[in-house]
Amino acid sequence: MDVLISGAGVAGTALAYWLRHHGFTPTVVERAPRVRAGAGVVGLRGEALDVLDRMALLEQVKALHTHLGGTPRPDGDGDPPAVAFAGDLQILRGDLVGLLHEAACQEVEYVFADSIASVEQDPAGVRVTFERGRPRRFALVAGADGLHSRTRSLAFGPRERFIRHLGIYTATFSLPGHLGLPGSDRLPGMAGKAAGVLTIRDNAKAHAALHFASGPLAYDRDDVTQHKRIVAGRFAGEGGPIPRLLEETSRAQDFFFDVNAQVEMDRWSSGRVVLLGDAGYCAAQTSGLGASQALIGAYVLAGELADASGEHTAAFAVYEREMRGFVAEHQQMGREGADRFFMGTPLHEGVGMVAANVPEVACGQIVRLKDYAPSFAATRP
Ligand SMILES: Cc1cc2nc3c(=O)[nH]c(=O)nc-3n(C[C@H](O)[C@H](O)[C@H](O)COP(=O)(O)OP(=O)(O)OC[C@H]3O[C@@H](n4cnc5c(N)ncnc54)[C@H](O)[C@@H]3O)c2cc1C
Repeated sequence: MDVLISGAGVAGTALAYWLRHHGFTPTVVERAPRVRAGAGVVGLRGEALDVLDRMALLEQVKALHTHLGGTPRPDGDGDPPAVAFAGDLQILRGDLVGLLHEAACQEVEYVFADSIASVEQDPAGVRVTFERGRPRRFALVAGADGLHSRTRSLAFGPRERFIRHLGIYTATFSLPGHLGLPGSDRLPGMAGKAAGVLTIRDNAKAHAALHFASGPLAYDRDDVTQHKRIVAGRFAGEGGPIPRLLEETSRAQDFFFDVNAQVEMDRWSSGRVVLLGDAGYCAAQTSGLGASQALIGAYVLAGELADASGEHTAAFAVYEREMRGFVAEHQQMGREGADRFFMGTPLHEGVGMVAANVPEVACGQIVRLKDYAPSFAATRP
């Protein structure tokens, strides 16, 4: 059974792995020319670690654990402060997606630099047109194309209907080490703004984040130069290490800028089209659990399709039932995290700012991973 997955992020690459594992034939279409790196650190927790274990990737993920730390104290006095962050394990998003992609890329067709342009369902399947490639038919389409999902817009309606804006914008980017920025793990409080520098793996790398409060902004989501300009404008005139961080944004190859928002939908499937990860139920960056949700969602969706022998209506209904409570809880955490985000600046001593307000609640309390049949002899439609 041929399944098209839109998006090669955490959710899409994990779904491709699990669908292949169960005997389906997934094809992944990714808008970027390759698996995207991205400077961000994502937390993994609870049953998400179990999913990685079942993929035999847990040890590799542990080896890539970022061991986030604060920057060394300027006077060299004492160890860098410890950093709290959501999740039992933290990993660079790009490292995680790279591992997930490698786990099944030999057996899965990946199409890069293309995107779905239209989906047309009929009783037997879905006809999909692409921006570049020729039209193709699939039995099912899974939208794993993130917060601003095109699959969602095409099959469910305009994005404005489903997005809850939480009033914070975030930029993240890599730094070549902590740059000796004095005390940059606890930057001075700035009204409605915050920043942090976290070191990764004994300062082999560092990661910077700049956040500001704002209502919805209109900008081109593909124009990174414009994103950098917006951030520079918001932080203009701030002192301390901010000018140096802004200077580094011009060099950053992996600059990521997005809104902290949630996706709220009554249902995640429409006929033969289904959503997972941020596309269907983004819990917001302030939940710290988007990657965990994406991994668990991919595992459950593929498993339920296998259990139902590819009968998508039944499978999607169970997938949704399994995931609802879990997602609702994470979304609540995301909203609470956003409400507290700028509280208490100047920042809590020694705590990485990004992490300072992430609630310490375990993930995976509601979803219990089922054991799905290891393989399903899927028949072609
Ligand atoms: C480059 C990047 C950097 C990120 N950095 C951070 C961070 O610093 N902090 C944080 O909390 N979260 C970050 N995120 C979001 C985080 O990865 C997700 O919240 C979480 O991992 C859930 O993953 P997902 O697979 O559902 O969505 P995502 O990780 O967003 O993946 C979606 C994928 O779909 C692709 N895509 C988008 N539109 C289309 C289209 N029309 N056709 C085909 N493919 C498409 C994207 O290129 C991406 O590869 C980042 C996401 C990206 C894409």
